[in-house]
Amino acid sequence: MLHALRLAGEFFARLEKMDEAIAATVAAGRCQHCGGPLHRGNYQRKPRGGLLAVTGECFTLRHSLCCGRRGCRKRATPPSLRFLGRRVYLEVAVIVASMVVQVVAMTARAALAATGIPQRTLRRWGSWWRGTLPRLPVWMELRARFAPPPPDEKDLPRSLVWRLDGDDARPDVVAGGSVSEASLLRAARYLAPATTSSVAEGSRFVTAAMAQTAMA
Ligand SMILES: [Zn+2]
Repeated sequence: MLHALRLAGEFFARLEKMDEAIAATVAAGRCQHCGGPLHRGNYQRKPRGGLLAVTGECFTLRHSLCCGRRGCRKRATPPSLRFLGRRVYLEVAVIVASMVVQVVAMTARAALAATGIPQRTLRRWGSWWRGTLPRLPVWMELRARFAPPPPDEKDLPRSLVWRLDGDDARPDVVAGGSVSEASLLRAARYLAPATTSSVAEGSRFVTAAMAQTAMA
């Protein structure tokens, strides 16, 4: 079962490092509204990991930038490998818990026991993955990166994770619990542009940050 997966603190430390690198590439640019300078405006969050990503809860810093020009002051929140928009749960918790309930049909109680996340939340995520995300412009951009056909939009997020896993990924491998940190890292990198709406062309910043680090 997927719920046997326990992500280590080191995994989140790597994600945090990547987030810092992405924030640095955004900070090197200008405010996209007025061209003003961007200043650090980081803040603390209280992320939850459910049962799968509890070690990520201590990585609380959300990198953020603010325009320094008076009269603008708009916030530019860089793409992230840890935070999926304003969701209180960490992105990997959202991905893995969503996959758990895709792989195995469960009662509300079983879903909570397996993921630590209430079923109504899991349902809401399911409708985001399969209803909202496929209609966002950022998804059009992301799906174009795959050789046709792109991952099945009616089967997100597992169709995406399996596809990013490459040729050895098979449904029974994931159901068997061996979804790896490496494939979750790939998914987080891939989805990073979809984690913020306040920075346009997020993919460009993510790619530039990856190129500057050992994780590229
Ligand atoms: Zn500005």
